[in-house]
Amino acid sequence: MFLDSHINEECCGCTACVNICPKNAIKMITDSHGFSIPAIDEDLCIHCDMCRNVCDFSKENSWSATLRAYGMHHKDKNILQSSRSGGAFYMLAETMIRNGGSVWGVAFDKSLNVVHIKVTSLDDLKRLQGSKYVQSELGNAFSQIRQDLIYNKAVMFSGTACQVAGLLRYLKKKKTDTTNLITVDIICQGVPSPKLFDDYKTYLETKYGKKLTAFNFRDSFRIGWKGHEESFLFEGEKKKHYSTQYANYYYHYMRKSCFHCQYAGLHRPADFTLGDFWGVNEKYPDFASSEGNSIMLVNSEKGLSFFDKAKINGDIIEVEVENCLQPRLKSSSQQPEGYDMFWTEYETKGSSYCIEKYGKATFKAKLIHLVKPILRKTRIKK
Ligand SMILES: Cc1cc2nc3c(=O)[nH]c(=O)nc-3n(C[C@H](O)[C@H](O)[C@H](O)COP(=O)(O)OP(=O)(O)OC[C@H]3O[C@@H](n4cnc5c(N)ncnc54)[C@H](O)[C@@H]3O)c2cc1C
Ligand code: SF4
Ligand code: SF4
Ligand code: SF4
Repeated sequence: MFLDSHINEECCGCTACVNICPKNAIKMITDSHGFSIPAIDEDLCIHCDMCRNVCDFSKENSWSATLRAYGMHHKDKNILQSSRSGGAFYMLAETMIRNGGSVWGVAFDKSLNVVHIKVTSLDDLKRLQGSKYVQSELGNAFSQIRQDLIYNKAVMFSGTACQVAGLLRYLKKKKTDTTNLITVDIICQGVPSPKLFDDYKTYLETKYGKKLTAFNFRDSFRIGWKGHEESFLFEGEKKKHYSTQYANYYYHYMRKSCFHCQYAGLHRPADFTLGDFWGVNEKYPDFASSEGNSIMLVNSEKGLSFFDKAKINGDIIEVEVENCLQPRLKSSSQQPEGYDMFWTEYETKGSSYCIEKYGKATFKAKLIHLVKPILRKTRIKK
């Protein structure tokens, strides 16, 4: 366990230990790769061990198994296009908001940091749409959620499975009634470092001499929902810039704990698990949408009854779980070759060097990004 061993890869950064500590003796600090890890102030610690008991990442997976699986795409084309996959998240979240509850999810703040925020209106819900390929900053989300639950308010929390597991274990240890809580996790191959993203933003601002005002990690406008192309906007400009530089290099440089992820399977902490429905065209061609498709796993009875309320806004098909077992529903990502070498270069040669070296697109990828927008434009015109 990280709190004893201090081996960074044994901590996923869920913040449960920080929230549970009765003496506020734990703070999240940043490690040399830019990830948050807990640090105990020994002067304040009373050795109650609550932090060790709440830590789910060091325990065996005892979460329940998936009950049912669905393919879906949102009925509203605008929502479908602004979502990463098929808009499953929006469908669940709008139901929560329309019923007077709040929704926690991942957004950009004003400085384009990736953070967890709470929203209570459909207007603000837009901020949570789309995948942000960076580990989010949770802040004091867990204790705020607990306060709302204590006052019998309905809450939805969405995040990675390790964040959901951390929240649930924290609430259980605090003996909080979770009847009014719905949890949503994403199929997850791992989270990249906030420091790499910060350095990439600085790199772009220096290169173009302008201030970034918006960033989209996966813009489907030119190449469709299956592609991977980022877009960004500078102050005073209306025309987006497109690139694959961040996408090319970030995949390989995720949090080390993600290579030992116990949630990469069908035993999940959340009521719902959402992901890209890879293979939908082959397995369910009559259902597949060219604009995006979600896979939704429902993992609890509470999830099934919430799904009954939410499904009205989606085109939905029940599917066999075996037909949607993508790699991250079988096992965790593998640490890529050269991982440690990358970080050594990052420390010795600097971020710009690494962005240019590792962000280079292969010839095949360049070709795809040249041809796909033209094909897509032609298809849309038809
Ligand atoms: C880091 C990361 C890795 C992923 N890996 C895979 C994968 O291997 N296979 C796969 O099928 N799908 C993966 N996904 C999930 C997928 O990209 C979509 O997020 C998911 O299908 C939901 O899409 P949607 O259309 O329902 O909703 P959208 O509106 O596109 O998704 C928004 C949801 O994603 C959450 N979210 C966004 N960024 C983060 C973040 N940094 N941390 C936690 N939650 C976040 C929001 O809180 C919200 O719940 C990953 C997502 C992220 C963020
Ligand atoms: S042992 Fe108790 S007091 Fe000490 S850091 Fe952990 S939770 Fe806080
Ligand atoms: S509770 Fe979460 S943040 Fe704390 S040590 Fe365990 S995994 Fe890390
Ligand atoms: S891969 Fe696992 S440990 Fe890493 S962020 Fe995703 S759920 Fe958490």
